[in-house]
Amino acid sequence: MSRPSAFTHTAGPARVLFGRGSLGRVGEEVERLGVRRALVLTTPPQADDGARLAQSLGNLRAGQFAGATMHTPVEVTLEALEVLRRTGADGVVSLGGGSTTGLGKAIAARTGVPQVVVPTTYAGSEVTAVLGETENGVKTTRSGPEILPETVIYDPVLSDTLPVPLSVTSGLNAMAHALEGLYARDGSPIYSVLATEGLKSFRDALPRLLEDGSDQDARDAALYGAWLCGTVLGGVGMSVHHKLCHTLGGRLDLPHAETHSIMLPHTIAYVAGAARTELAPAAQVFGDPIGGALHDFTTSVGAPLRLADLGVTELELDGVADLAVTAPYWSPRPLDRDGIRELLQNAWDGNRPVEAGA
Ligand code: NAD
Repeated sequence: MSRPSAFTHTAGPARVLFGRGSLGRVGEEVERLGVRRALVLTTPPQADDGARLAQSLGNLRAGQFAGATMHTPVEVTLEALEVLRRTGADGVVSLGGGSTTGLGKAIAARTGVPQVVVPTTYAGSEVTAVLGETENGVKTTRSGPEILPETVIYDPVLSDTLPVPLSVTSGLNAMAHALEGLYARDGSPIYSVLATEGLKSFRDALPRLLEDGSDQDARDAALYGAWLCGTVLGGVGMSVHHKLCHTLGGRLDLPHAETHSIMLPHTIAYVAGAARTELAPAAQVFGDPIGGALHDFTTSVGAPLRLADLGVTELELDGVADLAVTAPYWSPRPLDRDGIRELLQNAWDGNRPVEAGA
């Protein structure tokens, strides 16, 4: 019989709609939030999808801003705020991945306008109250209730066009939220259930997407997994994996999802010996020892395996290791300079990780 010990569980108040065709309900949800005129946000490559969505909103349409970009630069947010003001919009609809969601959050953080988010990747930002933005090349992070989107509409039809390589890395990015959620200090039995279910969804979906990117059952399962894993990210604190990816990404300007997928087997192997019980559900899904099993899984779905392939030079690894241990944070296995340097070397080489003590 499973008997949880004492725990505290806090959940975000977001409203979630899931299902093929649910994009058609954006207008209804915009109205439900009391928004009279909504500004549709996208990246430049998704501008046409945004234009179609804006068109479908009829009288609820204020306009479109198709300038969302990576790392949520403040200058782009200021441009979008000007469009918001000029069009008289009192709400935003963010259609896209984490970059577009980030822009919507940045606008909401400054104006308090409600957000409807329609995610088209598996990043999970839509269910977190965290905003990361950059100004003059410096990334800052803040959180607050006004940042958490009010409504999320998951329509798997929109993810059908997500290129398979990005589907794989984005899915592994989502899995990282779940894996770290399992050993989070502020975890709860409910988040562990969500995390395990999310991991199973991606274990089943990613190999099928590799075979056929238009496999609808696999697309549905992956987007469902994205919601579950994102909810874990929004509910509990992340640890060594996310921090190391942020250190690497911030210092060397690396692509988000690829960095997460390369690092995942190595960071999990680093903590596995210290969090064996907490990671047991993941080992049941992927195999034991979990770090090596994740390496086998990422290899089987064609994910990038080597930091070297992202243009990182071996000489840069020392600096990243130094930086990672200068601002210590909680991890099931405390961060030590040599251990982190070794982890980075393995990730640079693309080796199958071996757990400490294994
Ligand atoms: P992204 O939003 O940058 O999208 C990558 C590219 O894929 C873009 O060009 C986009 O237009 C395109 N794209 C997206 N969906 C598509 C689709 N269905 N079909 C075709 N093209 C599509 O990438 P991402 O990985 O979703 O987001 C990464 C960003 O999100 C990072 O800046 C990261 O820091 C942030 N993020 C924040 C949180 C949070 O909680 N604050 C969580 C996760 C990620």
